Amino acid sequence: MSILVLNAGSSTLKFALFDQSARDELADGLVDWRGRGETATLTFRSPANDDKESSAEVADYGEAVCWILGSLASNGFDDPIKVVGHRVVHGGTDFSRTTLIDDQVSQSLERISELAPLHNPPALTTIVAMRRVLPDATQVAVFDTAFFANLPHRAIIYPVPYQWFEQYGIRRFGFHGISHAYCASRAAELLKRQDDANLRLVICHLGNGCSATAVRGGQPIATTMGFTPLEGLMMGTRSGSVDPSILLHLLQQKGFDAAQLDESLNRHSGLLGVSGVSSDFREVEKAARTGNQQAQLAIDMFADRIRAAIGAFAVTLGGIDALVFTAGIGEHSATLRSRVCDGLQCLNLLLDEEKNHGIPEDFDIARTNSASRILPIRTREEQMIAREAQHLFASLC
Ligand code: AMP
Repeated sequence: MSILVLNAGSSTLKFALFDQSARDELADGLVDWRGRGETATLTFRSPANDDKESSAEVADYGEAVCWILGSLASNGFDDPIKVVGHRVVHGGTDFSRTTLIDDQVSQSLERISELAPLHNPPALTTIVAMRRVLPDATQVAVFDTAFFANLPHRAIIYPVPYQWFEQYGIRRFGFHGISHAYCASRAAELLKRQDDANLRLVICHLGNGCSATAVRGGQPIATTMGFTPLEGLMMGTRSGSVDPSILLHLLQQKGFDAAQLDESLNRHSGLLGVSGVSSDFREVEKAARTGNQQAQLAIDMFADRIRAAIGAFAVTLGGIDALVFTAGIGEHSATLRSRVCDGLQCLNLLLDEEKNHGIPEDFDIARTNSASRILPIRTREEQMIAREAQHLFASLC
């Protein structure tokens, strides 16, 4: 048997196929609609073959699921898929651990969908389609919020009337938990401090979405994302934290409505909103190199906000043993790492530029005399999801 992992984003559906142990990845890829209307491309990768790309009219995530299953079979991966692990970004208060999906769970997920409008609705459509197409498979939801289920109470409460928490459930949840959990464990392994309850990490997940988390002894104690994945660091298209009065001003004085604010903050802000170039960091970097000042401004702001979060969490933790960079930008942009670390010398956190510009995956790039280690770690969210799904499946057998 094999295990399929599905990770639905706002205009992509990533997949990865694992063997039954959830250790070996057999194939992966994605269906990508970005900027293409209903025409999507399917990229299929497997270790033994060259990448394959095909295009088709694909109306929704349901059709995309069938396309993925068809391409797995036609590429020779025809072991029965007994377990499907779905990444679900927001678990609300209902879900604080990996959960077997049944009708009731599916309905509960529908109720909390609006809390993560870019992510939960496509995940839910994917779940519904997959349950229809593979009714005998064990379908499991793995939540990005679950890692943060035990955040200290004072870290989840906002400084607003306490009744908002009691009556409306307004609280911090935290996101990218699958990635933060993997990186916390991988960093401890790289540092050979797996059992150290005092190991202090600041993990910066910098991809299309961005968040930083302070972790002590494997447990998160503070994180930048909040009630939704909109709070905190500046991101690809999301603003991150802004003064809430800006929204009141636009609503009350400038004729905006809630839907326009939602659209602006979630889809037209961040790197895209400031640079006017792209939400893709590589494009913004390219534009900055050719002298585009808005692109340079976006990068400077992006780095400033990450550095400020690291500084705040260093104080929260009482020092940092290792600073972790992960996800697309954190893993691959040496210039961004360099820009962020330039200013952290006051914490005696010293980057070795030569190592930084090498091929530093899962490798310490701090200078030997640095007080803290600096670790770019390749995140493995799909593998974490496969492992979680496999554990739950095994517990049912
Ligand atoms: P993710 O959400 O983890 O897939 O990350 C997507 C982001 O990573 C996009 O902004 C990409 O531009 C950025 N990214 C991916 N590869 C690179 C690279 N080699 N250098 C700089 N940024 C990159």
